[in-house]
Amino acid sequence: MARKRFGQNFLHERRVIDRIVAAIDPQPADPLIEIGPGHGALTDPLLALVERLRVIEIDRDLIAALNARAANEPRLEVIAGDALAIDYGAIAQAAGRPLRLVGNLPYNISSPLLFALLASAAPIRDMHFMLQKEVVDRMVAPAGSRAYGRLSVAIAARAEAAALFDVGPGAFSPPPKVQSAVVRLVPRPPAFEIVDQRVFDGVITDAFNQRRKTLRNALKNRLTADDIEACCVAPGERAERVSPAAFARLANAAAAKR
Ligand code: SAM
Repeated sequence: MARKRFGQNFLHERRVIDRIVAAIDPQPADPLIEIGPGHGALTDPLLALVERLRVIEIDRDLIAALNARAANEPRLEVIAGDALAIDYGAIAQAAGRPLRLVGNLPYNISSPLLFALLASAAPIRDMHFMLQKEVVDRMVAPAGSRAYGRLSVAIAARAEAAALFDVGPGAFSPPPKVQSAVVRLVPRPPAFEIVDQRVFDGVITDAFNQRRKTLRNALKNRLTADDIEACCVAPGERAERVSPAAFARLANAAAAKR
């Protein structure tokens, strides 16, 4: 029985599973962690390629089956718990190398999980996640495009994001109501300076919460029209047309005024 509250949509299409594994291209010594292994659709082919695989699962019934599996498979380490509450830094330290995270994520926790991972100090080499296609579109959208928003800017400041391929509902059981897509995220420092990450996040939240408003209005509690102009941004512009680098200039100006 698939549990809705744990966002369970199990992959069954071989072609899609093979494509995800090929995109990850696991090497034997890679410290791979799978989030939400479920019945093991990705776990099994990954385990065939690496010396050790850690999996994080929250559902007790699935954990029992995974533990039974691990009893005969010393390369499989089952971490029972909530992927949102795991200390990834400690795992990276034990592994001695930056982590590689993978998963067909439960869509209900994908946004908070992504932000927690990108904000964490844990060394992460890359992440390959199956997400709602609409979320992946927003993650990789360039300034000025329809899908461009807070998520696009927040991701651009923290990682290189690439949409790899789309997956239809028929690849899962039960089929989700939405299209899915696989994204690759490679954390890296931004190409622009961010003086205060909290102010940066606050500025993009304010700007996109009121995306129909001009920046002059949306950011009026933080910056004057003159301040905005001094950042080489037109005060009459709307958030959806402002690049991540320009948001960094605005946020740095706002941080300097605090
Ligand atoms: N990887 C499997 C597959 O592709 O068939 C299962 C994918 S299913 C979309 C999501 C999995 O994440 C389920 O096994 C679910 O129980 C697990 N899960 C849900 N919330 C979780 C959480 N907070 N922490 C860890 N695992 C979670």
